[in-house]
Amino acid sequence: MVMITLEGITKKFGDFTALDRINLKIEDKEFMALLGPSGSGKSTLLYTIAGIYRPTAGRIYFDDRDVTEIPPKDRNVGLVFQNWALYPHMKVFKNIAFPLELKKAPKGEIEKKVREVSKMLHIERLLDRYPWQLSGGQQQRVAIARALVKEPDVLLLDEPLSNLDALLRLEVRAELKRLQKELGITAVYVTHDQAEALAMADRIAIIKEGKILQVGDPDEVYYKPAYKFVAGFLGSPP
Ligand code: ADP
Ligand code: MG
Repeated sequence: MVMITLEGITKKFGDFTALDRINLKIEDKEFMALLGPSGSGKSTLLYTIAGIYRPTAGRIYFDDRDVTEIPPKDRNVGLVFQNWALYPHMKVFKNIAFPLELKKAPKGEIEKKVREVSKMLHIERLLDRYPWQLSGGQQQRVAIARALVKEPDVLLLDEPLSNLDALLRLEVRAELKRLQKELGITAVYVTHDQAEALAMADRIAIIKEGKILQVGDPDEVYYKPAYKFVAGFLGSPP
């Protein structure tokens, strides 16, 4: 089953074309990495999938449903950003509970879901702290928990590990990947880090200047790069 279909997605900011006729299918339960250098349009594409940006042209489907005109809150997506953006005045519990409170979920259910997701991310002991009382890695786990708590159909991540130190990055990387598979969630993962994409993704879409150059599984793009740029960017063997 196809989960996300992008058809001819173009996004312009004034005269500047940030995305140029993007076609991409992301399968149900797939981990798709959007990989490309800084400024290539990765975040713009992710926010267009989320519904934060409206494409200048093209359509977006979730399964058979055309969501192009549907606002973010009705797309059931979970978003995780590079710089976490936790609510500083709320304790961890409240931060994670917030999306459910917005939906006016019953108190008992909120309590249960927050406990569940906190357990998955090993942050149960931190629920009573404020964000500033957490390490970077812990804050990022909270951000992931908050994105997962409403059981989104699609998890969208924008360079979620790039502010972590190298060791922690490896740890959270493995955990995120395990969770994604366990929960059977469709994930779109933006990164400029080729090692991260090669290690985590089922498939990688390589983006340059608003265009997708190549889509394939890690072996394919690494060993059979379709362009010199792709070979250079991935460090493929000659
Ligand atoms: P990436 O995430 O790959 O680093 P972005 O998607 O953030 O790239 O940006 C792609 C291009 O679009 C960049 O040249 C950027 O300057 C431009 N851009 C992104 N957002 C806006 C915006 N809101 N207004 C104008 N230009 C933008
Ligand atoms: Mg970006």
